[in-house]
Amino acid sequence: CGITGYIGFREAYPIVISGLKRLEYRGYDSAGVMLYDGKEIHLSKTKGKVSDLEEITSKEEKRRKGNLGIGHTRWATHGVPNDVNSHPHISQSGELVIVHNGIIENYDSLRKELISRGYTFKSDTDTEVLVNLIEEVKKQENCKLGKAVQLALNNVIGAYAIAVFDKTKPNELVIARLGSPIAIGVGKENKEFFVASDASPFIEYTKDAIYLEDEELAIIKIGKGIKVRKIKDDTMVDANIQQLKM
Ligand code: GLU
Repeated sequence: CGITGYIGFREAYPIVISGLKRLEYRGYDSAGVMLYDGKEIHLSKTKGKVSDLEEITSKEEKRRKGNLGIGHTRWATHGVPNDVNSHPHISQSGELVIVHNGIIENYDSLRKELISRGYTFKSDTDTEVLVNLIEEVKKQENCKLGKAVQLALNNVIGAYAIAVFDKTKPNELVIARLGSPIAIGVGKENKEFFVASDASPFIEYTKDAIYLEDEELAIIKIGKGIKVRKIKDDTMVDANIQQLKM
């Protein structure tokens, strides 16, 4: 299972797809991508291989267009491998998109709580619960995406590497980790960023990488940079940029 992502000035699709292929060694049963073209979110996902996903996206150009994309290979834990359960998952409002590796153990009680607040679910995954929990927290607290992700994760028991996109804040991505690896590639002058389960998807674009530690959350903003903080107690962490070697 794996995560890839790109935000910047290049076409995101080829970076995200070739990244997923480099992560295939981790094993998976389904694959998916989200492309944001500056206006619309385009989701493509399927049970099967990354090559099956490419067949779907090859049919419509809009599924491959945009300077922001996130991709996922799934190893099903909650819900059988099928197209609907594949990631990325989108929130009820259609504004938030998530990819997730790991398990949300208390997803059932969170799901019931969200249903009682009017949420409906398309998939059987724990991940769709998480993206709607983030949406509900964001609404309740009237806060920004980074804060909402942090508050939501403090209500979660489990393991995760996640990347979250908010259509209302299309210059940023929020990344978090507990128990599953995730790395961020930093482009020149903060003009582009890469996200992946390991550095292999972005090593040809940048040698500057930040490996998130467990219980850390990163807010990535185009033109601004990366802010890393602890998920539990809000303390800021110095983003430790490492030099990748070939
Ligand atoms: N628990 C999530 C699911 O079943 C993510 C699985 C994974 O790590 O790929 O959809």
